[in-house]
Amino acid sequence: MIFVWGRKPVYTHAGYVADYCPVCRAARAFTVQRIGMAWHVYYVTVSKGELAGYQRTCCDCGMVLPMEVGHYSHLSPEQLPLVQLEQATNPHLSIRHADALAAAARLREAPLMLDESERRRQIDAALRLQADALEVYDATVRLDREVWWSIAGAFAFCAVVLAALKQQAPENLDNGFIIAFFLGLGAVGWQLSQMGERFLRREILPKLARSLAPLQPRPAEIDEAFERLREQGRKLAQRIDSARVQQAIADLRN
Ligand SMILES: [Zn+2]
Repeated sequence: MIFVWGRKPVYTHAGYVADYCPVCRAARAFTVQRIGMAWHVYYVTVSKGELAGYQRTCCDCGMVLPMEVGHYSHLSPEQLPLVQLEQATNPHLSIRHADALAAAARLREAPLMLDESERRRQIDAALRLQADALEVYDATVRLDREVWWSIAGAFAFCAVVLAALKQQAPENLDNGFIIAFFLGLGAVGWQLSQMGERFLRREILPKLARSLAPLQPRPAEIDEAFERLREQGRKLAQRIDSARVQQAIADLRN
């Protein structure tokens, strides 16, 4: 019997703050999660774990970003309207993010009037943000719902096969069960192999599209940005291409 144990991150809700969201390109409300490292047995934990840090998740677009709790006056226990949340948790937001807010305002007013170097800088920043998110995702073992369902399904399938064989053909019990077990394992393996692609489709591409759409980037600009990302050896450049990003931006408009 395989005994699975170790430490894993446990995320618990810790409150709300206001901050700048680079995907929304605006001030936004964020939920705050405390990250604890807790001991688990078969991925079941009983404690919140030892404090390892905090992260914030944009209430609008779902972007997850690292955070330093000390930068906020406090964490609000409730989600206040944005202006009040800003006053209560991050009163210096507009000063701290003055450059980003000014760039976002310029972008809203005249996206195609930005000079080439600023456009390049903003496209690169949007790609880098998602390249970071992908690398954080790759570094943590987390199973998505399809994988959990396939594990549950494989167990149920083996149990049903076992019960049927016992009743109908007990002489084939061993062989039948081995076949059912490997079919179940195959299904779980298939879902595991698709997990990375689902993360790209659900999490990375929509956010990338959202942060790039206001720039109305030309295909050539995205191509060149991907080329720079590839030169830096970032995984994102190997996993998606410029055509998929353009498609995601087009999907956003529809
Ligand atoms: Zn956002």
